[in-house]
Amino acid sequence: MAFKQQESWKNEIEKRRTFAIISHPDAGKTTLTEKFLLYGGAINLAGSVKGKKTAKHAVSDWMEIEKQRGISVTSSVLQFNYGGFCINILDTPGHQDFSEDTYRTLMAADSAVMVIDASKGVEAQTIKLFKVCLLRQIPIFTFINKMDRDANDPFELMDEIESVLGIATCPVNWPIGSGREFKGVYERDRKCITTFTAAMNGQKEVDTKEVDLNDPQVNWLIGEGYHSQLLEDIELLDGAGQELDMELVRQGKLSPVFFGSALTNFGVETFLKHFLKMTTPPLPRKADTGIIDPVSSDFSAFVFKIQANMNKAHRDRIAFMRICSGKFEAGMEVNHIQGGRKVKLSQPQQLMAQERKIVDEAYAGDIIGVFDPGIFSIGDTLTSSGQKFAYEGIPTFAPEHFARLRQMDTMKRKQFLKGVNQIAQEGAIQIFQEFNTGMEEIIVGVVGVLQFDVLLFRLNNEYNVEVKLDPLPYEHIRWIANKDGLDVEKIQGTSDMKRVKDLKGNPLLLFINSWSMGMVLDRNPGLVLEEFSRN
Ligand code: GDP
Repeated sequence: MAFKQQESWKNEIEKRRTFAIISHPDAGKTTLTEKFLLYGGAINLAGSVKGKKTAKHAVSDWMEIEKQRGISVTSSVLQFNYGGFCINILDTPGHQDFSEDTYRTLMAADSAVMVIDASKGVEAQTIKLFKVCLLRQIPIFTFINKMDRDANDPFELMDEIESVLGIATCPVNWPIGSGREFKGVYERDRKCITTFTAAMNGQKEVDTKEVDLNDPQVNWLIGEGYHSQLLEDIELLDGAGQELDMELVRQGKLSPVFFGSALTNFGVETFLKHFLKMTTPPLPRKADTGIIDPVSSDFSAFVFKIQANMNKAHRDRIAFMRICSGKFEAGMEVNHIQGGRKVKLSQPQQLMAQERKIVDEAYAGDIIGVFDPGIFSIGDTLTSSGQKFAYEGIPTFAPEHFARLRQMDTMKRKQFLKGVNQIAQEGAIQIFQEFNTGMEEIIVGVVGVLQFDVLLFRLNNEYNVEVKLDPLPYEHIRWIANKDGLDVEKIQGTSDMKRVKDLKGNPLLLFINSWSMGMVLDRNPGLVLEEFSRN
């Protein structure tokens, strides 16, 4: 590859910041995303992206079920520019039942922002999603939101994050008051105070006033009580707090914490500025041939998400891929490693603020969606013609709920099989078959029960087939890790154990309880069972 070419895309790649936002529903993820877009100049008035309670629907709310339930089932991607950076935000579903989708999205991200409601602290789904973040080992930044409402004590909030989530914290800014008395934030590194004036209820960028901590104005700007409280807090923080060790941040062991209010824009820009400086551009990634550098290698990417029927009129299926190295150009012919053939990536799309656009070029760090005629699977690698390697696969989690799928109208067998297979290929559900029979019986496995609802809804709505789900009593499923050279039929099972295989033909065992699983392990020395599958 010509050196000149690399130079031209080096700048572009170094500008990229690609991150995901996670939160418990209603903590303010959508509002914060919208405010980022506002500061990035991608929208003029906040409130135009999403109004859950109004007729307008967010870009990500493409599916009927999402509108009905008011939950976000899928994740979407937005790109915008701010302060010389090109930012890619990956939205994630807030509901824990879709944590597998969150995990895949995190695979495409270089860091994560965790939004926490200041009056609620760490909530149930924050914990689940956070665990997924930890698996991925990426830097996690915390934004404690809704400081304009009565909030828990900031020290208590930090303690809660540390004790419940088990990650060390280091506040980058510190709130002065809360609720109606939320005066502003103190920036610890620059030792200055930023006070805010609301602008059009948060629809416009907020007006700020910045003064040095030692400035005599501080006393009347925030009031004497808050001033002395702040000085006390600073002493405590500086004395006892953890230092901002960027190496620990990069390893996902220390989370920089910011306080603010997305609704009123207080602290949003401060957060954005610090966050962008603290995060890295795309870093080298591991492939089976070694480490792939984002700048010095030609185009490569992996598929982390497949989404069907984003546009009902077109019945399209889009494969979302994260570019890991080099530059992408529309119409490019690439190697589809797992498919073992060359493919042309046609009509690549990107979500820019509110619209889907056809892109001509994209760089490492970017996410593009390409039309998928049904050839891609999650985790597949694509490389430019000169190189051949595969990125590490995306693991499939062991489902925790199982049901037998029963088709109501047997005339529509073909439709039924097509629907179930496609939805499984997208990774929205997992399907299993009896180990030694054909497609006679289909067992569906999901991580969260809401995925069952999505399946029934989509089969009915998109494939026009009606099915019934008969719940099965299994609670555990395990992949057989040492399947080579092992006769699955000869495994000494318990009476309730069931042998099945997944879409790729990998053998698995189903158990009703962990006791039964333990028995089988005892009876079959040498048998290795795994909770997730990497292929
Ligand atoms: P998501 O489910 O995490 O995406 O949450 P949303 O962004 O949709 O916010 C949920 C609700 O909280 C909405 O009614 C928002 O207007 C409100 N909200 C979000 N951020 C703030 C904030 O900083 N202060 C206050 N008072 N409300 C907020």
